Amino acid sequence: MVGPLVDTFGRTHRDLRISITDRCNFRCTYCMPEEGLEWLDRSELLSFEEITQLARVMVTHFGIDSIRLTGGEPLVRANVTELVAMLAELGTDMAITTNGSTLRRHAKPLIDAGMKRINISLDSLQRDRFLELTRRDELDTVLDGIDAAVEAGFSPVKINAVVMRGVNDDELVDFARFGRERGVRVRFIEWMPLDADEGWSNDRVVSQQEIIDVISAEFPLEPVQRGSEPAQRFRYLDGQGEVGVIASVTQAFCGDCDRVRLTAEGQFRNCLFAVDEFDLRSLLRSGAGDEAIAQEIQRAVTAKWAGHQIGKVNFIRPHRSMSQIGG
Ligand code: SAM
Ligand code: SF4
Repeated sequence: MVGPLVDTFGRTHRDLRISITDRCNFRCTYCMPEEGLEWLDRSELLSFEEITQLARVMVTHFGIDSIRLTGGEPLVRANVTELVAMLAELGTDMAITTNGSTLRRHAKPLIDAGMKRINISLDSLQRDRFLELTRRDELDTVLDGIDAAVEAGFSPVKINAVVMRGVNDDELVDFARFGRERGVRVRFIEWMPLDADEGWSNDRVVSQQEIIDVISAEFPLEPVQRGSEPAQRFRYLDGQGEVGVIASVTQAFCGDCDRVRLTAEGQFRNCLFAVDEFDLRSLLRSGAGDEAIAQEIQRAVTAKWAGHQIGKVNFIRPHRSMSQIGG
């Protein structure tokens, strides 16, 4: 079985997101309960060799050309740069999403190992609020991590900010200014119902339109022609860079979705909001060959639905929180 990874709606999948750990040193309110979650036992996690084997099957059988490492917090996994070097041999684009708290130590080794792109999550520029949101007093560490990523040579450094009404929606202009001054690209993400505390509601989602209207009033913006990425980009009219919005709720991009996901324990997910998973770890550990694994992946993608139903009566909340899926 060799060819593109196409589902029944004709969508071709090229982007693989791998959660390499369920653990995290933060406890963001919109992602994880305060007490944390029960961590997976080490034996349940895919090993670096197993992750690489599954990624290789997806690259060689289906032409996957983009891999993103996520978690939990991917940089808490021991020896993560070894994994990066193993995956780099597959020759795909490679990116990482991180909370940024250990980048002073990790940024340069990541680049040296073959990491190409980076997204750093940051939802408040105010120390007290950052503490409230992440339940960790590490704003300065993350800001320093962002500087470290820039110094190491990541370009552009992208900052992901989840916008929540009544929580941080008064910081939109501050974030825009931060991006312009530091030369990093801020991307606002609409809040999705994957928080472990179930505090999400439709009226707390701040829409792309509202975000752009608020920023444009201070720093005028114009839309950039949309490419294949989920972020709608806008450039400042004065030439000082751009911002993006990932409008996963108000302007769902399911029709163009090209992503598949692998959890830290080797469950294949055909959608962020999937209710069913496909157990690649058992297949792998029972000695199945690449062809059998490829067939199971194709079966999983064939079962993919048209799109999520957030905000509609028939929406089913996945049983996992964002930290267990990887974003
Ligand atoms: N720990 C890493 C981090 O925070 O970047 C990687 C994992 S985290 C689950 C991946 C991304 O998902 C982060 O950018 C985070 O802000 C985002 N995220 C988490 N919960 C979310 C939610 N309920 N709605 C929208 N984005 C969310
Ligand atoms: Fe951890 Fe990232 Fe979730 Fe925050 S968003 S709790 S840093 S996994």
